Amino acid sequence: MDSTPTNFLQTIIGEDLAAGRVDKVVLRFPPEPNGYLHIGHAKSISVNFGLAEANGGHCNLRFDDTNPEKETQEYIEAIQEDVRWLGYEWSGEVRYASSYFQQLYDWAVELVEQGKGYVCDLSADEAREYRGTLTEPGRDSPYRERTIADNLNLLSRMQAGEFKEGERVLRAKIDMSSPNMNLRDPILYRIRHATHHQTGDEWVIYPTYDFAHGQEDAIEGITHSICTLEFEDHRPLYNWLLEHLPVDSRPKQYEFGRLNPSYTVTSKRKLRTLVEDKIVAGWDDPRMPTLAGLRRRGYTATAIRRFCDMIGTTRSDGVVDIAMLEFAIREDLNESAARGMCVLNPLKVVLTDFPADTVEEISASGHPSREDLGQRVLPFTRELFIDAADFREEANKKYKRLVLGKRVRLRNAYVIEAESVLRDEKGGVVEVHARVVPDTVGKDPADGVKPKGVIHWVSAVRGKRAEVRIYDRLFNDEAPDKGDNNYLDHLNPTSLTVIENAWIEPGLAAAVPEQYFQFEREGYFVADRHDHTPDKPVFNKTIGLRDTWGEGR
Ligand code: ATP
Ligand code: MG
Repeated sequence: MDSTPTNFLQTIIGEDLAAGRVDKVVLRFPPEPNGYLHIGHAKSISVNFGLAEANGGHCNLRFDDTNPEKETQEYIEAIQEDVRWLGYEWSGEVRYASSYFQQLYDWAVELVEQGKGYVCDLSADEAREYRGTLTEPGRDSPYRERTIADNLNLLSRMQAGEFKEGERVLRAKIDMSSPNMNLRDPILYRIRHATHHQTGDEWVIYPTYDFAHGQEDAIEGITHSICTLEFEDHRPLYNWLLEHLPVDSRPKQYEFGRLNPSYTVTSKRKLRTLVEDKIVAGWDDPRMPTLAGLRRRGYTATAIRRFCDMIGTTRSDGVVDIAMLEFAIREDLNESAARGMCVLNPLKVVLTDFPADTVEEISASGHPSREDLGQRVLPFTRELFIDAADFREEANKKYKRLVLGKRVRLRNAYVIEAESVLRDEKGGVVEVHARVVPDTVGKDPADGVKPKGVIHWVSAVRGKRAEVRIYDRLFNDEAPDKGDNNYLDHLNPTSLTVIENAWIEPGLAAAVPEQYFQFEREGYFVADRHDHTPDKPVFNKTIGLRDTWGEGR
């Protein structure tokens, strides 16, 4: 699989193993089940599972489910499916932060008993004011000096459901003048009268990320708790809590830079808006940067993992060019996709000298260099479709396709010569009449007049009609999210074009959902995971053959 990653995290882990500070590496991937996984999560997954694998350790999948309102079972299932699809398997059962709620609560009680936690009645607005700013220290809450007995009493009444949401919180008693805002008596528990997807109505108070995360890591014996850079300032709090609680193990937190691909938003909140406002067709819409969307678009797990390796793991938060992901998928599919022909914008060609009742079966290779992809049979008939863009009545020498009075090679088949056209009332060409240059399959014409170009085609009699969905980038701005930008102002209006009347060579109808192809001269396409059937073939465009973004095709 992936080669051993060499990056600063590997160096740290390697040194810990060599020095005997760690016997077995235990990592975790801790998504919150409040949305589908996206390409940024793929990076985190490949870092955590990849490092565990490379160092003979293991990696847990833990749902960080401490916010019942936004979390659902649907997300829990989708996340597991996506991790497996990427090619990783977690160690043991799936874990849930919520299964540690009792332990976390007991530890909260313990902090209060040590005089290191207190119940605070400030409203959210007041608390903000007391908190101070980056340049000014905060002030102590008037509730900070409550007695231990009062605090224990109020905490148990919070959990008993006696108070309204927002009425009270449990805070750590650390230092209101710390230059690190996270240490200014951070909130440990909030009241939430919500039904939790795992624990039902058992809990009325829920731990914050800060109170939950490090303790969960300790419970699971995580050796290296790897997260993204926005948690760097939380690390002193992570350590403070572990120091003051009777935990069995002392995980350490390390941060790396988030993956921010260009032309993409990766905030789950924004992705949820795209789904809820029906700007896309769902979390797995092929334009979404979710793993489910990329998969449906035809991106392979191999390409996504290769991309994650390619961009490296560093401590900087730069933007990564999305063209690198597109490069990775082209590279993978060029190697692995069988070839096929599909005419997206059909124009009929009638071969006037080819018998109407004859079907000549021409054999073509499934892939230029991979014999294991076999041969395909292309029925050749008097009536064919070519792409309307591949014919002109007149053209200069640069146009290497079919021109009236000139020759072109039909890919894998004969050379033909266009003789005349049929027009509709408005004068548009509706049919091209041509003749077959005899004995030219795999050979040049005997008269020495060679065609200038090669175009693709499909039999109009034996070919099958297909729906082809052409996808393009969802945003037309490099940084749809940056500064004052409102990402919704940068939606690409042509991110989806549905072609209902494309024609495919007959063998392609038998594709299985998720089978991918290179449609010659058009790009890479995949049989839609949900909608494709042999009777009603549906293909999604994954990516063009080369990078043409911005060339105004
Ligand atoms: P939200 O967008 O809701 O704040 P999140 O992106 O932090 O959430 P989580 O479900 O908490 O999502 O993420 C799980 C793990 O994936 C975390 O360790 C997080 O650091 C990591 N992760 C999330 N986004 C990225 C990203 N763009 N690049 C690298 N890692 C990421
Ligand atoms: Mg998060």
